[in-house]
Amino acid sequence: MALQTDIPVNLQNVRDRIAGACARAGRNAEEVLLLAVSKTKPMADILAAAAAGQRAFGENYVQELTAKYEQEQDLSWHMIGHLQRNKVKYIIGKVDLIHSVDSLELARQIEKEAAKHALAVNILLEVNVAQEDSKWGFDREKTAEAAKEILALPHVCVNGVMTSAPYTDEPETNRVYFRELKQLGQALAEGGLLTRQDPANPAAKIPLETPVLSMGMSGDFEVAVEEGATIVRVGSSIFGEREYLH
Ligand SMILES: *Cc1c(COP(=O)(O)O)cnc(C)c1O
Repeated sequence: MALQTDIPVNLQNVRDRIAGACARAGRNAEEVLLLAVSKTKPMADILAAAAAGQRAFGENYVQELTAKYEQEQDLSWHMIGHLQRNKVKYIIGKVDLIHSVDSLELARQIEKEAAKHALAVNILLEVNVAQEDSKWGFDREKTAEAAKEILALPHVCVNGVMTSAPYTDEPETNRVYFRELKQLGQALAEGGLLTRQDPANPAAKIPLETPVLSMGMSGDFEVAVEEGATIVRVGSSIFGEREYLH
């Protein structure tokens, strides 16, 4: 477990590594959102990160997310874990982005709850690019079709795509998956299938030209940034190892 005093140092280290990867790829570091993945970690750790300037936090479990949200509503919360349809109602209006939409049924449930709140909700389609049996997500081939169906839902905005690459000690082996996710995101953009919530009117959808690409975790985020990630989801490199692996 990391000491809370380590968190600002760890955060700066991750930020520096993102900046290094951006420099290597000729990208502007401001294009990359660092999402601090705080699942299983106490509120004190989140506050330590917030004091060091971190605003966006990712959580995997609805109950944990909503409990933390109630305590710190000014931070930006993202849902990154598998989401059950019957739990959608608890997070609409609280999260800025749902990364883990892995079925049309889930998107339709989000539509239903978002309509009740008169909100257009930003989501990503989770894609199982490495075709691992153990992972949630759309097959690559089914993603565009799903985005097309969701385009017709008035309160659900597909901003782009997300993937969890295989666990590996050799991050280079995941480069190919990050490249594939980017191509997929670009294909959705070129097909006119991406939208986002209108900042001027939270109930409305507006077209989005460039895809949001949520990819890269503690083990491989530098490679993901080199391949175009716009959001990296980093937990243990900031907060230390988790005591329970989920
Ligand atoms: C836990 C988790 C992360 C962060 O993993 P680390 O290896 O601790 O950085 C990122 N994305 C998802 C979907 C997760 O469940």
